Amino acid sequence: MDIRIGNGYDVHALAEGLPLWLGGVQVESPIGCIAHSDGDVAIHALCDALLGALALGDIGKHFPDTSNEFKGIDSKILLKRVMELLEEEGWSVGNVDITIAMQRPKLAPYIVPMRECLASVMGVPVSAVSVKATTTEKLGFVGRSEGCEVYAVALLTKA
Ligand code: MG
Repeated sequence: MDIRIGNGYDVHALAEGLPLWLGGVQVESPIGCIAHSDGDVAIHALCDALLGALALGDIGKHFPDTSNEFKGIDSKILLKRVMELLEEEGWSVGNVDITIAMQRPKLAPYIVPMRECLASVMGVPVSAVSVKATTTEKLGFVGRSEGCEVYAVALLTKA
């Protein structure tokens, strides 16, 4: 069996009055991500981990933020397209693990809905999708709620 590992990282700036989408789920929040797409920084990092595992570049290459086609796009559509790319090459997802760094709002109530949503879009068991959230103890741009930062890793397998 062939295996591949990939990692992804993304940051979006936060601003008052914007919707906050994370892991395919809308989070109740006074602040949201500034973005060309829906700003789902967790899905963007996940897509980069999946693409990175296959050395296929990053989501900026596949879905340019200068293109009107992707303006305001639901990031779940991007994730679905990335899954199609890797399935076309015969790869399956073993597991993914995502860490969201955000000072506020509290994300604990959204972790299970995010895992369920991502698993359903990716067509994998919920047990293969880990989502974790942390603050940065008020340190740095995350701690000042100027931005949201996400790290993701993905393991792919091919029989
Ligand atoms: Mg992004």
